[in-house]
Amino acid sequence: MPTIFTVAAALLGAAVGSFLNVVIYRLPLGLSIVSPPSSCPRCDTRISALQNIPVVSYILLRGRCAKCREPISIRYPLVEALTSVLTALLWLRFGEDPLLFGIYFIFMAAMVAVVFIDIDHKIIPDSISLGGIVLGFAASFFTPVGWVDSLIGIVAGAGSLFLVAWGYHIITGKEGMGMGDVKLLGAIGAFLGWQSVLFTIFVSSVTGSVVGVVALKLMGEGRDYEIPYGPFIVLGALAYLFRGPELIDWYLSLMG
Ligand SMILES: [Zn+2]
Repeated sequence: MPTIFTVAAALLGAAVGSFLNVVIYRLPLGLSIVSPPSSCPRCDTRISALQNIPVVSYILLRGRCAKCREPISIRYPLVEALTSVLTALLWLRFGEDPLLFGIYFIFMAAMVAVVFIDIDHKIIPDSISLGGIVLGFAASFFTPVGWVDSLIGIVAGAGSLFLVAWGYHIITGKEGMGMGDVKLLGAIGAFLGWQSVLFTIFVSSVTGSVVGVVALKLMGEGRDYEIPYGPFIVLGALAYLFRGPELIDWYLSLMG
């Protein structure tokens, strides 16, 4: 029995991943995310329902537009597959409580959109971060987080990272973190509580630093390549969502 629901969750995730591709492309450009229907950016041919099946269509079309053969970015099926896998995992973790699953599903989908919008444009839209703060606080009345921890999470999230960003700016004279990251952490605190904020800052700064150092080595010293910080924040938040308390216990046991 549980298997069929997990498969259904994976299919739901793939379909929503397909929608997220539209959101990722259109939201930062200020375009409507509901209309018009998707079309090929080169020949403007409408993408039919049959050509819009997540992942499968990409493989059947061999990664090209059916009409003009313009290559389609591999990222489209990747976002669909990623969302599909995350949704299945989310169901396995929270499926016993469908309301909790629904709330975290919306949160997770928003986080996937944040990753790719930040990579493309180095911004995190307010509609997601500020919208997430409002929605996360409202949702906390229905989750184990509770509104008190959610509220502290918003203050801790937005407040602590603001201090870090401000300190970094004072010391280096550069913008290390944008206000978008600050607001995003507020939204994470709203959904997952203040404990998740500390965890997310820890995970994102460690992974971000490692990737930053490796990127610097690969690209040569002195290059000023700006790595978006949003994806690392999302990595921390999703790690907390799936295994946060266990990971904290494990870490504390290492510390003795
Ligand atoms: Zn085309």
